[in-house]
Amino acid sequence: MQIQQNGMTVWFTGLSGAGKTTICRAVEQSLRSQGYRVEVLDGDIVRENLTKGLGFSKADRDENIRRIGFVAHLLTRNGVIVLVSAISPYREIRNEVRHKIGNFIEVYVNAPLKVCEERDVKGLYKRARAGEIKNFTGIDDPYEPPTQPEVECRTDKENLQESVDQVLSTIQKHSLESQFQLMNHEVYEEKI
Ligand code: ADP
Repeated sequence: MQIQQNGMTVWFTGLSGAGKTTICRAVEQSLRSQGYRVEVLDGDIVRENLTKGLGFSKADRDENIRRIGFVAHLLTRNGVIVLVSAISPYREIRNEVRHKIGNFIEVYVNAPLKVCEERDVKGLYKRARAGEIKNFTGIDDPYEPPTQPEVECRTDKENLQESVDQVLSTIQKHSLESQFQLMNHEVYEEKI
């Protein structure tokens, strides 16, 4: 079954190991099971193809986000719910993408560095501490937290389901608001 839906981009930002992929995949599963059209742009996968060759300087990180944002924008305007999971450490480029896309929810997946490091899901923190990886976010590269995210998931304090529920309810609220705007727009057009 395919249902009527407005496109939007849900952008998960946070440190490596904060829980972006885990929450994003659970949200994807839930939305798909309800019949929504969803696409996931996962930072790690994107860096294997769309942004292959880009490194981890500020310029390259910004270009990585700009390209992901471009694809997210195309999908969003074609009615897809786009879930982006990427560290995206710089505030300015996140805001640039937000303004380009318009229908945008920023999810700050927040766990203290200490917790992310203890989890060390991919063993990357250990390597970064050993100096084997340079420019690693949180260790020797900056992370600028969102100042006004639509959602903040404290994954050190809440369980996965709590984080997922928060994101889903914000998507639902946002979706209702944009449908309302669309309806108002149609009423306005009818009057002309
Ligand atoms: P990221 O994509 O941000 O690098 P991952 O999702 O790959 O992070 O890893 C996060 C880890 O934290 C996983 O092992 C996950 O099981 C764990 N975790 C613990 N609590 C939570 C939570 N509330 N939300 C998401 N992940 C959690």
